[in-house]
Amino acid sequence: MSLVTRFALLCLVLFAALGAGIGYQLHNLVQRRETTAVANDMIVAVRFGAAGFNSLDSSTKSRAATALEAGQAVGAEAVYKDTVLYDSTGHDRGAPVPVTGPYRAALAGNAGYADLRTPSCACTPAARFLLARYHRLVAVYVPISIGRVPMLAMVYMPYAAISSAVAKDTQTIAFTLAIGLTIAYLTLFRLVSRSSRRLHRQMDLNHQLALTDALTGLPNRVNLEDRAARAIADARGGGSRVGLLLLDLDRFKDVNDTLGHHVGDLLLRAIGSRLQDALGDAGTVARLGGDEFAALLTDLASPADAERAARALLAALDAPFEVDDATLDVSGSIGVAVTPDHGTTFVELMQRADIAMYVAKDTQDRVTVFAPDLDTHSRSRLTLLGDLRRAIDDPEQLTLHYQPKADTRSGAIVGVEALARWNHPTEGNIPPDEFIDIAERTGLIKPLTDRVLDMALHQVATWGAAGLDIHVAVNVSPRCLLDHDFPAQVARALAAHAVPVDHLELEITENAVMSEPGRALEILDQLARSGITLSIDDFGTGYSSMAYIRQMPVHQIKIDRVFIAGLADQGPDAAIVRSSIDLARNLGLTVVAEGVETQATWEHLAALGCDTIQGYLLSRPLPPDVLAAWLRQRDQHPPQRPTSALATT
Ligand code: C2E
Ligand code: MG
Ligand code: MG
Repeated sequence: MSLVTRFALLCLVLFAALGAGIGYQLHNLVQRRETTAVANDMIVAVRFGAAGFNSLDSSTKSRAATALEAGQAVGAEAVYKDTVLYDSTGHDRGAPVPVTGPYRAALAGNAGYADLRTPSCACTPAARFLLARYHRLVAVYVPISIGRVPMLAMVYMPYAAISSAVAKDTQTIAFTLAIGLTIAYLTLFRLVSRSSRRLHRQMDLNHQLALTDALTGLPNRVNLEDRAARAIADARGGGSRVGLLLLDLDRFKDVNDTLGHHVGDLLLRAIGSRLQDALGDAGTVARLGGDEFAALLTDLASPADAERAARALLAALDAPFEVDDATLDVSGSIGVAVTPDHGTTFVELMQRADIAMYVAKDTQDRVTVFAPDLDTHSRSRLTLLGDLRRAIDDPEQLTLHYQPKADTRSGAIVGVEALARWNHPTEGNIPPDEFIDIAERTGLIKPLTDRVLDMALHQVATWGAAGLDIHVAVNVSPRCLLDHDFPAQVARALAAHAVPVDHLELEITENAVMSEPGRALEILDQLARSGITLSIDDFGTGYSSMAYIRQMPVHQIKIDRVFIAGLADQGPDAAIVRSSIDLARNLGLTVVAEGVETQATWEHLAALGCDTIQGYLLSRPLPPDVLAAWLRQRDQHPPQRPTSALATT
């Protein structure tokens, strides 16, 4: 039975009970009112009749009593003290008359009436006699005085005379009540059934939303799990295979960072529908969140079928996407897992496809089908994440190496760049590109940046105490530029180690500013105003133009080492380096060249007017004590400056 039907039945019972209750009360009211009205009429009649009574002699008084049978009266009697003097019932006289209730009130001078239903000791014999005949009587008690003798006249009327009027009124009331309650019941029922329908629709919608990814309209993870579980159960019976593909987009974060979340969202939507179109009826595409999509394939004959479908999905992404006036190239990596070969439950398939996807990403092979030997590879990557959390606070594991930078013309050391190193207890040295990427993805980058800043400034203070005046550059994550507390945090670190503000330089990547330019520029402004030198790191690899950088309160650009490496070829890289240096100089920015590995490159950069060089030619990044020794030794034996640099000075 539906909830609404149950409610309707319950209400019906309640309304019926309410109607019966109200009806009963009203019926009583009507009955009382009618009885009172008739009794009052009788009282008036008795009083009227009694007016002439005094003048009658005793024999006619008996008749007069009969005359009191006014209107509907069926009997009358007159009482003096406790003796019945006259009655019209022809009944045995002289029986005692009780002096309670209405009798007593009437004897005291107040006319009244009683509704007699059962004979009681309070009834005179005449009343008993009449009751036996009529079953219900209205007895009227009126004080009269006959010959100055106070007496009580009692007149009886059968209730039947009233009941027809009562029945008529009760009928009208019952009818009105029934109509009123029926209308109320129907209105309430309509209201409730309408609300119930609306609630059902809302529930359906909520259910739908709970199973759908709001951005793309594709099934979400919960939905996918549900479908997968059913498909796996069906396949078990039919002997076919179910495949799960996990797709992770390459560099999608850059799209968000550079073009904004709006474009990122539009792109995800377009990717979702293109994937579903490409897959057609062969399976279901779902979005798991972020830039992760999944596809569920049914009726597969072999894992190779799933691999083919995965390649078809990637091929569907090959054509560029036109989103919000931008043309975007999208690529991705897919991990494949198939039942029963790689697992028998959705959870197992997800784990295996995830492992395969990581391998596909790492090995640049765009599609990887799960194989047991892949497992160890990915497990180490996952444990790495947990290990990094602990490593950040462990001075044995997380250390800094420092790479010197030199003035291009004089060769004098102008500062060092602090570069994080992670010496893992079992895995050995893990390249910063790898663990910084993990830190960025997991939010560990903030504690890591804090720690690096603290260690670098502590080192500058230690060198200062040892007589080495060294400026340090610290790499800063894009996330720091979204943190309002970051400038204050830098100021606190400087104060804690008593390092002058001009001894600190922060390196930021150009893309860092693009994700939320407003907030990032505000934070950069605060940092610049406090006197910290700001550098754009890896210049040329991002998306921003020189015109954009002009608006940023930065002092320096660091041209990425890929362009410096190509300098010797005199190809496009050389042109990029040359024009970058020219533009930077025109904008009043200094230029650092990273990755200088040969004397020829140094000379070339000097000729182009680059201010500072950094690279293996000068030194690899070194532990702090080794760097101090290197600096001291260099002071004693200054290297030869590049000849062309001398020529231009
Ligand atoms: P980066 O900031 O551009 O640092 C320069 C990288 O170039 C360093 O790599 C350095 O060892 C390398 N390098 C220097 N000279 C040469 C050269 O002549 N030839 C070649 N081939 N390479 C050279 P490293 O130390 O592996 O750092 C890689 C990246 O990791 C850094 O690039 C930086 O983006 C990031 N990173 C390192 N430490 C930190 C850190 O503490 N915080 C943050 N947020 N990022 C860091
Ligand atoms: Mg750097
Ligand atoms: Mg760099």
